[in-house]
Amino acid sequence: MDALFPTYARWEITVDSAEGANIVDMNGTKYLDFVSGIAVCNLGHRHPAVLDAVQQQLTKFWHVSNLFHTNIQQEVAGQLVSNSDLDAVFFCNSGAEANEAALKLARKYTQKSKVITFIQSFHGRTFGTMAATGQEKIHSGFGPLLQEFIYLPYNDCEALKEAMDDSVAAVLVEVVQGEGGVVPATSEFLTLIEVLCQQNGALFIIDEVQTGIGRTGKKFAYQHFGISPDIITVAKGLGNGLPIGAMLGKAKLKEAFGPGSHGSTFGGNPISLAAAQATVSIIFEDSFLDEVEKKGAYLKEQLNKVLGNEEWVNEVRGSGLMLGIACQSNAAESIAALRKNGLLTLPAGPDVIRLLPPLTVSYEQLDEAVNIIKSTLVTEYAK
Ligand SMILES: *Cc1c(COP(=O)(O)O)cnc(C)c1O
Repeated sequence: MDALFPTYARWEITVDSAEGANIVDMNGTKYLDFVSGIAVCNLGHRHPAVLDAVQQQLTKFWHVSNLFHTNIQQEVAGQLVSNSDLDAVFFCNSGAEANEAALKLARKYTQKSKVITFIQSFHGRTFGTMAATGQEKIHSGFGPLLQEFIYLPYNDCEALKEAMDDSVAAVLVEVVQGEGGVVPATSEFLTLIEVLCQQNGALFIIDEVQTGIGRTGKKFAYQHFGISPDIITVAKGLGNGLPIGAMLGKAKLKEAFGPGSHGSTFGGNPISLAAAQATVSIIFEDSFLDEVEKKGAYLKEQLNKVLGNEEWVNEVRGSGLMLGIACQSNAAESIAALRKNGLLTLPAGPDVIRLLPPLTVSYEQLDEAVNIIKSTLVTEYAK
């Protein structure tokens, strides 16, 4: 009966509708959504400004191809470069495609092929980005992989110093490892990557697919640190639910991506860009980002209050509204129990409960989530 490839282990929820931080299933059960489509619907489901922008673009044109100029591509590219240290944008449709573009550009620009990535990283499912991903389970059964990736321990400065030389084309890193367990990079580690890349003629690439577009309380998570990467990649939150990805690079890289070098039929799709334009206009306001930082700090504090003395909890960690509850053992049962009690969270690796509420979440909804966590998981309250 099921005509889909069984590539996903789905929950027993069939979605009927969604609005803001809520999802309603076909039985009429309402859930508090701290998944946000995996850090995608950062403004919540069906945000009115995004809806309006998409509806307006639908009445103009849907797709014309990159044989044409469109103002909306220039406008969104302008928004992205004027709010970052980068100068040029390549639009595509997903996180994997953005990283794929970055890897291809790094080879073409440097004329080198070796790329350093990190253990427990996640960069996507295409052949290139799968090889870049430092997780055995993602590679399993798909070999031989694209060659010349080196996986180093994350946040290990000594290992990086040892591995780095002038044969390296690029270092690709997440500011907070998302799928790998909500693990933040140290400032020292990111700064060292920047310095070693400069010394060795390698490109410093930051994968902001999950951390970008306000998720950590900055426009891009690298902006928490005084660093200036050569390339960043974004996707998930950029279109608030419409599919879009982008690679942003420094001006020096423009020449290596000349006409005919790379492309995508759907890349820069005007409907997705209309969503991105509305999304970015709201999220990149300083007052909005300040609120994200405040709400993130509040949620972390409340979680620490409730979970601080629990034996099964190692720590609550993360940045902004990208938080993880690191457990002593497998978190799957806890996540299922929270779901039964109306709170949707997701795993990050086997042992971490990941919380990705929409950035528009209210303090009441944060309190409600903490209360569900308390009544479901805290030993003295849970039945
Ligand atoms: C989700 C994710 C990707 C892959 O994005 P897709 O849109 O699924 O291809 C890449 N990097 C990071 C850090 C991600 O979180």
